[in-house]
Amino acid sequence: MELTDDVKFVKGVGPNRVKLLNKLNIFNLEDLITYYPRDYEDRSKPKKISETENNEECLIKGIVTSRIREIRTYRRNMTIYKLIVRDETDSCELIWYNQSYLKNMFKMGETYFFYGRINKKIGITEMISPVYDIEGKNKNTGKIIPIYPLTYQLSQNTIRQIIENGLKLYKDKIEETLPEYILREYNLIELKEAIEQIHFPKEFSNFSKARNRLAFEELLTMQLLLLSLKNKYKNLEEGIQFSKSVNMSDVINNLPFKLTKAQLKVLEEIDKDMESSKAMNRLLQGDVGSGKTIVSIIAAYKAVKCGYQMAMMAPTSILATQHLKNFTNILSKYNIKCELLLGNTPKKKKEEILEKLKNGEIDIIIGTHSLLEENVIFNNLGLVVTDEQHRFGVRQRSTIVSKGKNPDVLVMTATPIPRTLALILYGDLDISIIDELPPNRKKIDTYAVKKTMEERVNNFVKKQINEGRQAYIVCPLVEESEEIEAKSVMELAEKYKTDIFKEYRVEYLHGKMKPKEKDEIMQSFKDGNIDILISTTVIEVGVDVPNANIMIIENAERFGLAQLHQLRGRVGRGEYKSYCILKYQGSSEIIRKRMQVMQNTNDGFIISEKDLELRGSGEFFGTKQHGIPEFKIANLFEDIKLLKLVQSASIKILEDDPLLEKDKNKNLKRIIEKKLETRIEI
Ligand code: ADP
Ligand code: MG
Repeated sequence: MELTDDVKFVKGVGPNRVKLLNKLNIFNLEDLITYYPRDYEDRSKPKKISETENNEECLIKGIVTSRIREIRTYRRNMTIYKLIVRDETDSCELIWYNQSYLKNMFKMGETYFFYGRINKKIGITEMISPVYDIEGKNKNTGKIIPIYPLTYQLSQNTIRQIIENGLKLYKDKIEETLPEYILREYNLIELKEAIEQIHFPKEFSNFSKARNRLAFEELLTMQLLLLSLKNKYKNLEEGIQFSKSVNMSDVINNLPFKLTKAQLKVLEEIDKDMESSKAMNRLLQGDVGSGKTIVSIIAAYKAVKCGYQMAMMAPTSILATQHLKNFTNILSKYNIKCELLLGNTPKKKKEEILEKLKNGEIDIIIGTHSLLEENVIFNNLGLVVTDEQHRFGVRQRSTIVSKGKNPDVLVMTATPIPRTLALILYGDLDISIIDELPPNRKKIDTYAVKKTMEERVNNFVKKQINEGRQAYIVCPLVEESEEIEAKSVMELAEKYKTDIFKEYRVEYLHGKMKPKEKDEIMQSFKDGNIDILISTTVIEVGVDVPNANIMIIENAERFGLAQLHQLRGRVGRGEYKSYCILKYQGSSEIIRKRMQVMQNTNDGFIISEKDLELRGSGEFFGTKQHGIPEFKIANLFEDIKLLKLVQSASIKILEDDPLLEKDKNKNLKRIIEKKLETRIEI
């Protein structure tokens, strides 16, 4: 048997099951044995019946003391089977529904193991639909049982059996992937053992060792891949060398405002990259409102004056349009021609733009995903900027980059990322940080409130609107689907329109609407024709409406802190005092602390660190953002300690052997190359 053999060769897998397994992305043996459990049930040690607790799932061991009773219920049209067992502490009533084959299964006086959920009633302990084994024959009990992430058509028993069969076939073929010296140095168990123990751990301590080993490898592969890519870029001499004779300061000295120290520092780093013969690959991180756009405008100036074109890609047309305005404002006096290309640009206009782009009459093109299309051809693309990088995949970045010949690349994001995570999310990029806001920014007052404050909040909103301001209301995050989310937005809008805010102009916005509709609503809000905009997180990115000064977030406890911070960044953009009101439910310590962080600080970096610390099961980046590598077993948030260890290991390995050419690292090189194949994007 080989790793790459089709899963159909495993015992118990017929054509029907092949299809079901394929749905789970299991095609060959390797997929199968690396289909890891999501959880485990400890069916290894029986509990005394008297010590069981309501609602817990557990194992008991008891002697059958009654015949099975069959009870028909006509009302619910089912048959209930009841059996009484007893141990030395108490008795327990086992209950099954409609399982007639059980009738002759149990012998009075024999001992069995049962595993199931306990239901405590006064004076009676019940166990609902247990699985069982007769003593001495362990099939369903007596061990730790893996629970797999499944679709409804495959049962846990089936997949468990299939994986067991697959492992039996393949076990001896599992080759070690990590070098011996790493296993030793980091105290890791061998791959073969890890895979066996992750599926069928004999003890929970074995499971931890197995998980640790597999997560280590996963993180190490990713980290080494990114860092060695960076080494590779660094050694490439094929980038564009922009001329030293074009000075960024010519623009800088003519701006309507003074750049912050942080902006100047970042520009210096960019300038140095641009003038070097290597291609720039830089991430520009800066909190909401820190002024990243102007940095990209100045870099664009340099690229154009050196004879190249520049492209800027933004995730929404609202944002792209806004950028065009800013670019033109600053650059038109230097005789630089900027254009906008959107999905809905009229055909004729579009053709004209594409033609001019191709022959070099347009210097700067700003657009959305529409820039990725094949017919977008540049004359001489020298600089690519993507704004709000977390909204794009790595692949989209590389598509636009490939339209030039090793152009310099700047990716911008407002998602503040703690260093450890940045190293694994963007390890192939150099990082610049704007860690300072322009002066005179007013702090946004943030209040976390509960339901009881609702009326006061509504009155406050009315008062502000009466004074001419506008408000955003963001609806609860719904993870299941965009449709449910859209529905909840419309329901809330209906309620507000017809009741609480009926004297005001209320509109809504959600991800299921057509781009054109979204743009129209957004434009209308910008023009001041809407008082209250109810929305999903689609308004999170980059939008600038200085007159809007209130941000209300419903069910704020459902959002990650970083995301709340992004949303809050939509206000506080004008001359008016701005407010963020977080409506939340729940009284857990974690929720309270998270709300407190939001009230106490406006600093995105502090918030992102705290988020990581207090995350609970919350989301760091929100759910709908791209660019986060997927891991089978490692978890970027829970494995921070391991990640740090892996990072120091990676750096050490590459310092000793930058291109992984030494014999002892040949396995590492192999797994990284394999990973590279599966990540076409890079
Ligand atoms: P972000 O980093 O969130 O993309 P923007 O680039 O949109 O932020 O900048 C936010 C606002 O701050 C813009 O209106 C911009 O013109 C202004 N701005 C940028 N830098 C400065 C500065 N140094 N001083 C004053 N205002 C600035
Ligand atoms: Mg921006």
